[in-house]
Amino acid sequence: MKWYTEQWSDDCRFSLRYNEQLHSEASPFQQIDFYKGDDFGTFFTLDGLMMVNEKDEFVYHDMITHPAFATNPNIKNVLIIGGGDGGTAREVLRYKSVEKVVMVEIDELVFRLSQKYLPLTAAGVEEDPRMTMIFDDGLAYVKNAQDKSFDLILVDSTDPISVGEGLFTTAFYKECYRVLTDDGILINQHESPYFAEYAENMRKAHKKIKNIFPIASVYQFHMPTYPSGHWLFGFASKTFDPIQDVKPTEWNNFGLKTKYYNTDLHVGAFMLPTFVKEKLANEE
Ligand code: SAM
Repeated sequence: MKWYTEQWSDDCRFSLRYNEQLHSEASPFQQIDFYKGDDFGTFFTLDGLMMVNEKDEFVYHDMITHPAFATNPNIKNVLIIGGGDGGTAREVLRYKSVEKVVMVEIDELVFRLSQKYLPLTAAGVEEDPRMTMIFDDGLAYVKNAQDKSFDLILVDSTDPISVGEGLFTTAFYKECYRVLTDDGILINQHESPYFAEYAENMRKAHKKIKNIFPIASVYQFHMPTYPSGHWLFGFASKTFDPIQDVKPTEWNNFGLKTKYYNTDLHVGAFMLPTFVKEKLANEE
C-alpha cells in the first residue's frame, strides 16, 4: 500500500492512498509529482503540497470563479494568475459572455503535465480562441499590464513561499488595483484560518488588500484535501459589494450547472465563524 503524506502542521499530517506515481520531475521552479489513486483519482503536488485532485477540484474552481460573476455578470476580460492545472480557466470559459482570458502561469511544465494527466481540468483550455496563455511570473506581468484592462483578476496561486511569494505582496495587490476596471474585482487565494502558519498568511494578505481596495471581504469553503479542510478566498473590489450587489437571477440565467456553488450559498459563504472574524478584525 502506498501513501502520499503531507505535513499540515508540526503535529498533524494528512495521507492519501495511491496506486501509482505517474510522474516526478523538478522544474526550474518547483518539484512536481503526479499520482493516481482510487477514491481521489489523479492528483498532483507542488513541493510536497496538494494542489488538485479529481475528487474535490470542483469545490475550489467553483468558488474561485462564480461568486465574482454573480456579483458582476458583465465581466468580459479576465486575468488568471497561476492556475496551471487549467481548472479556473475551464470555469471562466464556461461564460459565453467572457471575451478574453489571459492566464499567466510561471511554470509551463505544470500546465503541460496537467494536459497529459489531468484532462478534467486542463482539456480544451488552450484551444479556446478567447484564451491567451503566458508562461511568466504573475507579478512581472501585472507590472507591465495596461491600466484598467481587466474586469476580474483571479489569483490561483501556491502558498506564499518560493515562486508564489511575490503574489502575496502589497506591490502585487497595488498593480492589480491599477489594472482593474472601475468596477473590477480581485479574487485572492487567502489560505486557511486554522493552522497558525496559514492563518498568518491569511491575516497578512487581508491587511494588505484592505489598505488598497475600498471593499475587501473574505469568504470560505470546504476543501477536504487542503490543510484543515477550511479554506478562504479574498473578494476585493472597487465598486461591488459581494453581498449587497449579488444578482442571483442574472447568474442563474447563465444556466451553468455547478456542483458546489449556488446563489443560496453565495451570501452564506461570506458569513465567517467568530474565530476567523476576530483574526481578520485584528488587521482592520
Ligand atoms: N489550487 C491550488 C492551491 O491553492 O493549492 C493552486 C493551484 S495552481 C496549480 C497554482 C499555480 O500557481 C502553480 O501552477 C504555480 O506554478 C503557480 N504560480 C506560483 N507562483 C506564481 C507566480 N509568481 N506567477 C505565476 N504563477 C505562479
